[in-house]
Amino acid sequence: MATKLLYLYDSYLREFEAKVERVSGNQVVFDQSAFHPLTGGVGCDFGWLVKGNEKFRVVRVEIDRASKVVSHVVEAEPSGLSQDDMVKGAIDWDRRYCLMRLHTAAHLIAAVMYRDYSALITGGQVDADQAKLDFNLPRTDREVFEDAVKKANEEAAKRVGLKVYFLSRDEALKVPGVVKLAERMPPEEQELRIVEIPGIDLQADGGPHVKNTGEIGGIRLLKIENKGKNQRRIYFTKSN
Ligand SMILES: [Zn+2]
Repeated sequence: MATKLLYLYDSYLREFEAKVERVSGNQVVFDQSAFHPLTGGVGCDFGWLVKGNEKFRVVRVEIDRASKVVSHVVEAEPSGLSQDDMVKGAIDWDRRYCLMRLHTAAHLIAAVMYRDYSALITGGQVDADQAKLDFNLPRTDREVFEDAVKKANEEAAKRVGLKVYFLSRDEALKVPGVVKLAERMPPEEQELRIVEIPGIDLQADGGPHVKNTGEIGGIRLLKIENKGKNQRRIYFTKSN
């Protein structure tokens, strides 16, 4: 059965209770989890599982795309855990909050790159210490990216509240601006999670974000790489 993904509804949930559905080797599956797996271009959470006096360190979290089952990989084989046990999960909040801030920053940079330079995002990865984004853009001048980061910082400084909501596929097809997202969704996905930064960005998105762009802090451009014809990659991080 698919794991209920608690972070979709509350990205600020740091602790949760869950029932063990399966333990195989050093991988544990629960009925529900607040741990974000490595997916959607955003790094996974680390953290701990606690049962009574026993504590297990979570070092990796994965999701199976087809079954939507989340596996929590623990450091050492959890011999004290078995099916139907109730455990407490606690995510490494410092790491998660970095992921949330940089992920939201990535939205702003991508939105500015599209708005002002017609550059389409072709890939990316958000880690806790830095993030990278790939764009389809013929120009290689550093000023383009410096300008985009400067404008993303200006957008962040406006302290805009994000909106996260769910729409059925049918509802989404009626909302201007969401239609394109709905059309891109595979037909078996009946519900879209929409992440909106009012005035600048709207995405169908399953990742954790901050509630307000003011939480991002400053965004700092680290470097630019030329990755081939029209492919430019930028690395950035938080400046505070
Ligand atoms: Zn996102």
